[in-house]
Amino acid sequence: MKRFEAKVWLSTPTMHGDELKYMTEAFQTNWMSTIGENIDEAERLTCEKVGCKYSVALCSGTAALHLCVKLAGIKPGDRVFCSDMTFGATVNPVVYEGGIPVFIDTEPDTWNMDPKALEKAFALYPEVKVVVLAHLYGTPAKMDEILEVCRRHHAVLIEDAAEALGATYKGVQAGMFGDYRAISFNGNKIITGSSGGMLLTDDEQAANKARKWSTQSRENAPWYQHEELGYNYRMSNVIAGVVRGQYPYLEEHIAQKRAIYQRYQEGFRDLPVTMNPYDAQNSQPNFWLSCLLIDRAAMCRQARGEREALYVSEPGKSCPTQILETLAQYNAEGRPIWKPMHMQPIYRMHGFVTAQGDGRASTNAYIAGCGADVGMDIFARGLCLPSDNKMTVEEQNQVIEIVKSCFA
Ligand SMILES: *Cc1c(COP(=O)(O)O)cnc(C)c1O
Repeated sequence: MKRFEAKVWLSTPTMHGDELKYMTEAFQTNWMSTIGENIDEAERLTCEKVGCKYSVALCSGTAALHLCVKLAGIKPGDRVFCSDMTFGATVNPVVYEGGIPVFIDTEPDTWNMDPKALEKAFALYPEVKVVVLAHLYGTPAKMDEILEVCRRHHAVLIEDAAEALGATYKGVQAGMFGDYRAISFNGNKIITGSSGGMLLTDDEQAANKARKWSTQSRENAPWYQHEELGYNYRMSNVIAGVVRGQYPYLEEHIAQKRAIYQRYQEGFRDLPVTMNPYDAQNSQPNFWLSCLLIDRAAMCRQARGEREALYVSEPGKSCPTQILETLAQYNAEGRPIWKPMHMQPIYRMHGFVTAQGDGRASTNAYIAGCGADVGMDIFARGLCLPSDNKMTVEEQNQVIEIVKSCFA
């Protein structure tokens, strides 16, 4: 096999032309600021697609999550239940407000927050009032179960739908389940503004607060009058032009990503691996990233320290480290699964609740290659595959052959 001449990427922006038209309109009309038609349209299109009453265009998904955390009323010292296996941006905003994340283990059916572990967490920390949940890689979480637990404990739900725009659970769009919700238009997401994000809610007062906070919290006065802390979080009208131009292509992107997922699934039929799972009866993921999980019996020895990884190759077996290194040798980009938050040095001393045992898991129980909890087990055995929607079938076939060669 030959090295790819043009790099095969994990996930990159896919532009269509309208984006440039709307950016140019912003330029020509001189709305080169954080006000303008593109912002209004991007917000309207989001509400139309997702079904929310209000959306507030912001400079990033992380900013949206930060304002969600503020709206949920998290105060210094408050514990907050958070998805464990996710991007750090899901949980960092809790800490911006002085909150203390307590991590909830992952379930193996959708790779999202385990409702059973969440239930256990409320028994251990009955005072907790806020839950932050992410839908990983565009696959909806077990929302009926999660919402039932949240309702019973009167908890506010913050929904991080950054990776899941366009995914549905029982016909309802991701981004419609939390009290406060965030989506992202970061460059590698299913549609992009090059950057950007939005806060979604059905609460008019909350939307107005978020809009005010995002524009430096100016009061209605002839001068700069401030009664509360403000932020410079609003989306640019140029960025909004890109978002506006991308929306008509969201479903096309999802169809391309689904086809990529299905080709991998078919291509790996004879390998000891499975794809990232979803509830085919109740949910339609957006298939943002295709991931694979190596069967336990087919794992070669792999050791991961804080910065480096090693493996020992064995006939018929492989591991994420070997596959990622081999893909890189051929000029293709994969990525490890999000390393669980409870194993991150910054969050190592935080609480972590699993569904098994007494609900308390020791972070020291982890042995490389055989996770003590579901999240670390998926991290040890899983990886994200090149999932760019501009990848050709020929390129993907070669990626499949490269992965197969690792198990030779
Ligand atoms: C991308 C992402 C974010 C953050 O979005 P930005 O727009 O990059 O700030 C938050 N959570 C998850 C799960 C993400 O993947």
